[in-house]
Amino acid sequence: MRNHSELLRRYADVTVRVGLNIQPGQTLLIMAPVAGVEFVREVVKQAYAVGARHVYVDWEDEQVTKLNYQLEPEEALKEFPAWRVQQREQLAAQGAAFLTVYAGDPDLLRGVDPKRVGVAQKARLTALAKYRDYIQNMRVSWLIVSIPTQPWAAKVFPEGTQEEQVNRLWQAIFKATRMDVEDPVTAWGNHLQTLRRQADFLNGQRFKSLHYTGPGTDLWIELPAGHIWISAGSSNDQGTAFVPNMPTEEVFTLPHREGVEGVVTSSMPLNHDGVLVENLSLTFRAGRVVDFSADSGYDTLKEILDADEGSHYLGEVALVPHDSPISNMKTLFYNTLFDENASCHLAIGSAYPVCLEGGAQMSREELNQRGVNHSVMHVDFMIGSGQLNIAGETHDGTVISVFRNGNWATQD
Ligand code: ZN
Ligand code: ZN
Repeated sequence: MRNHSELLRRYADVTVRVGLNIQPGQTLLIMAPVAGVEFVREVVKQAYAVGARHVYVDWEDEQVTKLNYQLEPEEALKEFPAWRVQQREQLAAQGAAFLTVYAGDPDLLRGVDPKRVGVAQKARLTALAKYRDYIQNMRVSWLIVSIPTQPWAAKVFPEGTQEEQVNRLWQAIFKATRMDVEDPVTAWGNHLQTLRRQADFLNGQRFKSLHYTGPGTDLWIELPAGHIWISAGSSNDQGTAFVPNMPTEEVFTLPHREGVEGVVTSSMPLNHDGVLVENLSLTFRAGRVVDFSADSGYDTLKEILDADEGSHYLGEVALVPHDSPISNMKTLFYNTLFDENASCHLAIGSAYPVCLEGGAQMSREELNQRGVNHSVMHVDFMIGSGQLNIAGETHDGTVISVFRNGNWATQD
């Protein structure tokens, strides 16, 4: 059994060397909650050890975030400061790397007016559009990882003392991110290779559409011509490899904006800004959501869908086997980074242009024409289960089973 500080050191090591793959002379911006100070200090140390030029940290406290949502004057909610925009854009233009340490309390925004949150969020997303372009087109290296916070740990593991809850969540995170194996760096290399093989198989098929069937789900998704299935590993404008999410188990592409028909029901709750949306169901016609429901969090779902025109359409199609490390923990993490990697998922809103051949170089109009959805929103929701089947249809009408009972039907 390795002790906590050794595992934490490994986690920071893999974050810096595999996830961000910091290069000599590169600057790193870390966005982290104050609860993550121990991990952040370790990351800063290791980033300089591999030759980072500057490491900046933007500290956040979610109680302050909540107070802002609650108490800011109505008008002020619409404002996002230009200096924050400049910070991100300037660093992105210089080829800096961006680390987000994400550790939200799933219940944080309970009781906060979702309309106010929606206004503030839209302002933020709109102001950061150019920066998000760098991120979504993989032009700069970025990574999202998580660390436990007390409220989050208590939500995932309600039993035991506060200390035990946090320890259990740390153990789950270390397991999900493969820190508990002999050599995490090698394990990550092998894992990334497996994901790449699955993406290669899907890219070889050039499916015209996918047909999803499962409890509450009967959905056709058309895939645009030239779509690309992508797995964890990316490379930035300089050609440097990086892994944007840790953990990551998914292989994903984009749907044709107008090519989604039928109904889909989530298999796990969606935690969006502290509100749980449970048992959400969306009905599509010609790609657009024409009806929706949820057992809880209906208002939040409505806010997501009403953000703009693009938030009425899908932007991501991701495959994750039901039999995989996070899924097998049978733990709801109330955190999309973990839960989406436990399950096949779709995203409401923006598509990644890099999922289309030449997409990163296309204008907005061209992307529209090719069926690439655009929105300020990108919200993943989970639809995988042991009962999910997915069949792919090729352009010559051949039907190939892709997922059977939640797992790859075509395992090599
Ligand atoms: Zn995804
Ligand atoms: Zn996504």
